[in-house]
Amino acid sequence: MTEVRTYPMFIDGKDHSPSGGEWFPSDNPFLGSAWARIAKGGVEDVDAAVRAADRALTSGPWPEYTATQRGALLRKLGDVLAEHAEELAHLEVRDNGKLFAEMHAQLSYLPQWFYYYGGLADKIEGAVLPLDKKGYFAYTRKEPIGVVGIITPWNSPLMLLIWKLAPALAAGCTVVVKPSEFTSASTLELIRLFDAAGLPPGVVNVVTGFGADVGSPLVEHPLVRKISFTGSDGTGRFIGEAAARDFKHVGLELGGKSPNIVFADADLDAAVNGVVSGIFAATGQTCLAGSRLLVQESIHDEFVSRVVELARTARMGDPMLETTQVGPVTTPAQYRKVLEYIAIAKAEGARVVCGGGPADGPECGTGGWFVQPTILTGVDNRMRIAQEEVFGPVLAVIPFRDEDHAVELANDVRYGLAAGVWTSDTGRGFRMADRVRSGTVWVNTYRAVSFMAPFGGFKDSGIGRENGSAAIEEFLDTKTVWINTGAPVGNPFVIR
Ligand code: NAD
Repeated sequence: MTEVRTYPMFIDGKDHSPSGGEWFPSDNPFLGSAWARIAKGGVEDVDAAVRAADRALTSGPWPEYTATQRGALLRKLGDVLAEHAEELAHLEVRDNGKLFAEMHAQLSYLPQWFYYYGGLADKIEGAVLPLDKKGYFAYTRKEPIGVVGIITPWNSPLMLLIWKLAPALAAGCTVVVKPSEFTSASTLELIRLFDAAGLPPGVVNVVTGFGADVGSPLVEHPLVRKISFTGSDGTGRFIGEAAARDFKHVGLELGGKSPNIVFADADLDAAVNGVVSGIFAATGQTCLAGSRLLVQESIHDEFVSRVVELARTARMGDPMLETTQVGPVTTPAQYRKVLEYIAIAKAEGARVVCGGGPADGPECGTGGWFVQPTILTGVDNRMRIAQEEVFGPVLAVIPFRDEDHAVELANDVRYGLAAGVWTSDTGRGFRMADRVRSGTVWVNTYRAVSFMAPFGGFKDSGIGRENGSAAIEEFLDTKTVWINTGAPVGNPFVIR
């Protein structure tokens, strides 16, 4: 029998057992069995973590750091992450069942976020204001926004944490992280490594547990000034409403129903590849999955049969193996949801031309949460399968006539996270990039992201942007300072 690891929370630089004394299992989706025991946090643990973060914000070493010292510390954290990328990738795979190859590549790239935002830490500048009033000198200061609550989902736990954590620390904030209840271990391991590398106590705290027990109290805690959230739009709406009640800042990275739009003049080899990776990489469990294929009518049949042909070659199996191309769905609930959406699509009149059900061969481990790469044709954009996020390996194919029709279909969803456009006409690429309403548009590529490139959603896909130099502003507040250098004393009862 394999050992089950125990993970307490991490608060104020120390391990922290749950105040309620309860723990819950974390399952390996390939094996279908628990591999870790996670502390089940509650309102008291959240309070302890937020208070530790609040203390670290105003006293102790952290506020004494110069911006340059903060930058140096961030670069050190980047080095620590780089050294431990492989072991952290193993943990991620154990928890979320994604391919080791993907998680290792992702973790090996993530140190760049610490180097980039470490470099920006001492380039945060206020301004001297060119005033219209005599006798005053005025300037702005950029100050850390305060204690930040970071709430993350299970699909890429460390990547989505670090997209928030690196700019928050560069800005001088302190943080309480609440990872997904399905994938808490890697966050705890990472923050312990950072603690050993010299991150002062209380600067980053981790409280584990469920949304209602830990997420809600974190959002509602009066000492938290900003919530930075990645997850579903349902939870995002709840968080947005709760934060608004207390005038807290929010950043929301939510779901998508992104179109991959293929014109007849595209390089079809590249487009087939882009469409397959757009939806089937990571078993479709990415917010930016290209889950709608909009394909020009004149090439519909030929293109779909090429996508089907490639999708059918996908090797499913153990996510740790180099040869595996599609791993399991992360949770049993998600597995049921994906199968339910396939059934809904069929009932709505869609045709299954690839996959369409569970995969349960011997290569699928004992967890059994595998769904075949599934392609549905005959989809109308008004169907639920075209409008709602499945978050699994399910592609809905919708034909279009011309550019205008493609734009109309692309924009006819409540989401607006990302879109791909495949065409050999450069002008059309630019025109489509102008007209599609989404936070990212890729032309003749899909999935590219960088620490330098802003990422976020239009419409119901979210509020705010991560990555890029402006993301640091999301964790700063502006203060205006007025100095009287000799302004005349006026009538005290009249404001002029
Ligand atoms: P989820 O909304 O169920 O959970 C996300 C996090 O919120 C978890 O930590 C959860 O415990 C917490 N939570 C749940 N209820 C809460 C509450 N009432 N108050 C506070 N926190 C609460 O999402 P998920 O299923 O873990 O993740 C999948 C979703 O995330 C998909 O919709 C996907 O599109 C989205 N996502 C978006 C991006 C992006 O960058 N836009 C990236 C990855 C995933």
